Amino acid sequence: MRIEEDVKLDFKDVLIRPKRSTLASRKEVDIGRAFTFRWSGQAYEGVPIVAANMDGVGTMDMARAFAQMGQGATVALHKHYKLDALLDFYKKEGSKNVWYSIGVADADVEKLDAFLKKSPKGIDKLCIDVANGYAEPFADFVKKMREKLPDVTIMAGNVVTGEMVEELILSGADVVKVGIGPGSVCTTRKMTGVGYPQLSAVIECADAAHGLKGLVCSDGGCTVPGDLAKAFGAGADFVMLGGMLAGHDQCEGEFIEEGGCKYAVFYGMSSGMAMEKHAGGVAEYRASEGKAVRVKRRGDVAATLQEILGGLRSACTYVGAVKLKELSKRTTFVRVTQQLNNVFGAE
Ligand code: 5GP
Repeated sequence: MRIEEDVKLDFKDVLIRPKRSTLASRKEVDIGRAFTFRWSGQAYEGVPIVAANMDGVGTMDMARAFAQMGQGATVALHKHYKLDALLDFYKKEGSKNVWYSIGVADADVEKLDAFLKKSPKGIDKLCIDVANGYAEPFADFVKKMREKLPDVTIMAGNVVTGEMVEELILSGADVVKVGIGPGSVCTTRKMTGVGYPQLSAVIECADAAHGLKGLVCSDGGCTVPGDLAKAFGAGADFVMLGGMLAGHDQCEGEFIEEGGCKYAVFYGMSSGMAMEKHAGGVAEYRASEGKAVRVKRRGDVAATLQEILGGLRSACTYVGAVKLKELSKRTTFVRVTQQLNNVFGAE
């Protein structure tokens, strides 16, 4: 047993220190990023925000809404869409602003193979998503997918430490998804005691990835636009959002009306509710690592996304970053907590 004494921080533990700036208005800030992905060679331009591949959020309607906004934000479609629905969506909407999501199950691969056989244009982006990216077969799986899909941009995760980021990039991932336990409906830290404070995870993983010309996506734990600014300030290339995009008109799932208020049910993909829905219950050998919450209905996601982008632009003006790309270079974090007193996430 070993104890690591270095301080590890979450979004709530820091603020971004303002800096002298020549920017007169937030209108001057460019919050898009341009990347050429290391393996696929594809070019990306746009606001590097990704809707999480969760039932309620990673929806086709969300993808249509993002496309309509024209800012380049992308959606990781949840993996429970039927083959025909996916074929139809890709045929009508194209593949540019969506990630096709899979886990490592045989059924996921079979569905992807069937999709690729029937879809003339195939996919642009693939999100390979497992709760624990540390299992050895996971890196092998990424390798196989890279061999099979050399021109497709692959995002893979989740992990929280530099050595595993490097392994996944060397195995063929263009983007590594970073985050274990920070999610708004995640109970991994409580159920297993495993996790890593998200801000530190992003700082360390971004450093590892950028050394290999790979990228990272900070996944989970953002509850307000300022958290996205902190994630980008820490070095994230993309930020993935679940809870912040839940409850909108573009979300799927159960909606409730009570006491004159409208709510949506938002649940973790490893929650009892998700496993009940997709696997007929929680398997005997595992425990649920997610929960279900009610979130207020929030109307059209376009207004929320605008607000998030407004917050990001403003953060950039406070530190004098003309482009989002400059934000991390211009970020100094000020610690505002002495102790990690709520590492178990939002309650
Ligand atoms: P949020 O933006 O809501 O804080 O976090 C979204 C992320 O939480 C997702 O992208 C995914 O990585 C993670 N997540 C979603 N459902 C679950 C779950 O049931 N358990 C755990 N451990 N993580 C989850």
